[in-house]
Amino acid sequence: MHALLVEDDDRMARALGTALARRGHTVRRVGRALDALRHVHEAEFVLLDLGLPDLDGLELLRRLRTVCDAPLIVVTARCEERDVVQGLRAGADDYVVKPFRMAELIARIDTVRRRTGAYGVRPGGGAADGGARAVRAGDVEVDPAGRTVRVAGSEVRLTRREFDVLALLAARPEEVHSREEILDRIWGDAFLAASRSLDVHVAGVRAKTGRPGLVRTVRGFGYQLGSAAAVLGEREAGR
Ligand code: CA
Repeated sequence: MHALLVEDDDRMARALGTALARRGHTVRRVGRALDALRHVHEAEFVLLDLGLPDLDGLELLRRLRTVCDAPLIVVTARCEERDVVQGLRAGADDYVVKPFRMAELIARIDTVRRRTGAYGVRPGGGAADGGARAVRAGDVEVDPAGRTVRVAGSEVRLTRREFDVLALLAARPEEVHSREEILDRIWGDAFLAASRSLDVHVAGVRAKTGRPGLVRTVRGFGYQLGSAAAVLGEREAGR
């Protein structure tokens, strides 16, 4: 997804930008309130520092809220309870105080986006926006409407959950999905048993399609739909 990062500190912006990019997000970073207002319309979620050089962050937050309702998380050094309350009242979806742990911030972003319905697919694999288009990765076509998967033109039968996992990844192919997110949305919870089950289902998808590159493992984090090159490359290599 596309993030707008409003942060005037270069080091902080670099660290956040890198962490977001690693999760598959694209990021526009701005250091001034004026530029935040100019670019907020393109954002699918917003990270907002309150200490900016040209406008008070709370005032900017109020103005952003009049033109955009994308999920917004305040990331700031202001930690007084009064500041937190004002931030939430002004329309922030969450509030993270610096210094923070990057993993915690990423988890909060996932939670806020899930809560605010920023995802395209609901548990069970149905599209939330009705725009359930078929997605291609190499010679694999995933059709969420018909719940079918075709490999090189021939239909492959997956179990319901195998299909749900694949459809979830295919709905946002540019994005890496955390294990927690996948478990939460398909199993409804992140139990240990379900966690092992997720790996089994991913293995099933790879084996049944005969395309091991169709699902990319992001070690220690989660999964992503494989690129066309990964899907086709491994097939060539396997010959
Ligand atoms: Ca600042």
